[in-house]
Order: sequence, then C-alpha cells, then structure tokens
Amino acid sequence: MLCETLCHSAVSYMGGRHAAPCHLCPVQPKTILNKHKRPDHWFWTRYTAYPYLGCQHGCEFCYCREEKYYPYEDVNDFAHVIKVKENGPLLLRRALSRAPVDLIGVGDYQPAERKFELSRRMLEICHELGFPVFVLERSPLVLRDLDLLWAIGERATALVAFSIISTPDSPHHARVRQMERLAPPVEKRFEAMEQIAEAGIPVGTCMMPTLPILCDDDTNLENVVRWTADHGGRFVLVGGLTLADQQRAYFFTVLRERFPDLLSAYQARYPEGSYGPSRGRWRNVALRIRELCERYGISDRIPRPIIPGDKRVLNKRIAERLANQVYDMELNDEPGYRVWAYRKAAWAIEELEQDVGLIYRTMGLKGLESIRDVGPKLGREIKEFMTIEA
Ligand code: SF4
Repeated sequence: MLCETLCHSAVSYMGGRHAAPCHLCPVQPKTILNKHKRPDHWFWTRYTAYPYLGCQHGCEFCYCREEKYYPYEDVNDFAHVIKVKENGPLLLRRALSRAPVDLIGVGDYQPAERKFELSRRMLEICHELGFPVFVLERSPLVLRDLDLLWAIGERATALVAFSIISTPDSPHHARVRQMERLAPPVEKRFEAMEQIAEAGIPVGTCMMPTLPILCDDDTNLENVVRWTADHGGRFVLVGGLTLADQQRAYFFTVLRERFPDLLSAYQARYPEGSYGPSRGRWRNVALRIRELCERYGISDRIPRPIIPGDKRVLNKRIAERLANQVYDMELNDEPGYRVWAYRKAAWAIEELEQDVGLIYRTMGLKGLESIRDVGPKLGREIKEFMTIEA
C-alpha cells in the first residue's frame, strides 16, 4: 500500500507538537456502517460510521487502541499511520439508503480531515437522506462544517459533544495535556462549543475518560461543569478510563516512561484482569458530577434527540426514561438484578414494533404488562411515564 507522508501539514496544524511523521494510507474497505441492534443508552446512537482508522490526536489513554478497534500488530502506529477510507462516502450512501432512519455517530476531525474532507462528505449524505447525527470531537475543526450541522439540525437533528477531561485552571491540567499533547487546546474546544451553542445546536461535554488522580479531583470536576455551562453546553456525561489488551500494555508503558510517579497508583486501581474503574470510585465521581450539573443548571445525561417524523416517539421517550432509571440505580448502588430488569425493559420498549401508547389505549395496563421483559411492576411505571409524557 502506498502511503503518503504528511509531516508538514500535521505539524503546522498542531503548532509544531507532532513528534513523528504521519503516514496517510488510502484503503478501500468493504463496509463502513456499524449497525447496532438498538441505540446505546449513553449517546443514543444506533449507527456509527467513521472515515479514518487511527487518530493523529494520539491521546495516550485512547480506548481505540484496543485490539477490537485497532487490529494491527504495532499499536505505536495508532497516531502515525492513518488509514483513510477513501470510499467511505460511497459506502455510507449505499448502506443508509437501505437502513431505517435513526441517530448515527459520524465525524472525525483529526488533521487528515483538512485534506480529505471525508467527514464533511459523509455529513452531506446524512443530510440528503434525512439522518440525524451525533458528533463527538476533540477538535474545533468541526466548526468548518457548522453550516451543514445546522442544516441537518433543521431537517432532522444534530447533536455535538466535545471530549474534555480537564480545564486550564485545574491543578493537573499541564500533565493532562501531556497525555493528549497532539490534540487541540481545551480553550479552542470550549470556544467551538460556544459557537455551536449559539447556532442553536445542542452541545455539551463528554468527560471521558476521567483519569484517576489527574482529573477526578473536586476542583477539576467543578471546572469542567462550570466551563461547559458558561460556554452554552447542556450536559456533562462522565465516564471512566478503560484498559484492555494491547492498549493496556501501551498505556502502562507510557506511564512507566513518562509518568513514573503515577505508575503504582494506576497499577493498584487497575490490577491485571480489570477493565474499568472500580464501581465505588466511578459512583463517587458520577454522583459529584450530578450534584455539580444540578447546581449549574445542566444535565449529567445526554438528552435523547427527537427525530422528526418518528412514528414511535413515545416508545423512545419511555425507553429513555427507563435507561435514565438504570443510570440512577447504578449511582444508588442498587442490586444488579433490579438494574438489569429496567435495562431489559428499556430494550423491550425500544424494540417494540407497535406504538406503546396504542397498546395501552387498546389493552390497558394488561397490554403493557404483557410486553416482553416488562411485567406488572414495570407496566405500572411505564403507565406513569406515559402520563408525564402526555
Ligand atoms: S481524539 Fe479521541 S479518538 Fe483521537 S486519540 Fe484522542 S481519544 Fe482517541
């Protein structure tokens, strides 16, 4: 495969912070659209489609280095050998022409996007075919496509989130920046957030991953929520660091070589065989974010976008309420069997072919109770939700 070396444009975009040359390798994959059985309960996306493999932002903690996302021998290539899916827009058009309309996660605004504009072309296809979009970014380059996002928002729905885990006035910000040193400055991301909010597009922060010690102190948690609210953001969704297979090995090598004072604390928090943060630590951070979001008048969940013309809006609203209950129950450390009962009920309502309101109107409470994975108690709760939604 003939790869193109693009040192100079990458260096100028990054303000000279790029340490190694970057190779942009054209590829022609067979598919681009990942279809999920149902929307996830964090971002509400049913589909995802991204035009690049590897990321020039090269954040040291990035979960995309995991084998399942990056099935290549040398994990060190992740930030320096970028596979460019040249036929991405063509594949996306074909796939979406046959797919039911639902929220799709798209957009990748790493420096390569300046040259190839594949994210923009894929957004154009979403707009043309009436698909709502969710863009999660660490780069203000997304502003280049604000016109298109606005147009998608007018026709369907556009939702944007910035990955931000620390603010410039936080105690460990300089070290956090060393962990994401090739990504654009946080101030630029907040400026972009403000412009997107001013355009009327729902926007917020995904505080992912909240790095132990560097990001989970109270000052930083409050700063992220306050900066988000001050820049027109509507939510802060928090998530923990995950470590698996080759990405885990890579991250611990980085700690050993560049952050040796953090090594033993991370080894203690992420013993061999663990994947995410301990439930107790994650709950403490998530509960604090909830309190702070309430204080600053924003949400700690991404509000589920409404898709115009959706015939099962009520089902989606009920599924969102049940999923939010799942999140609340996890924060309250409720028993796993109860949490799973609500999660399965959310899935069941999501997958219903019929309108849940019609079921209730024709068959009453018995109709709700007879839905798979619902039963009498959740049937009554769903009826309550329907009253609130009415
Ligand atoms: S910007 Fe996102 S995808 Fe890119 S390296 Fe950082 S965390 Fe990974």
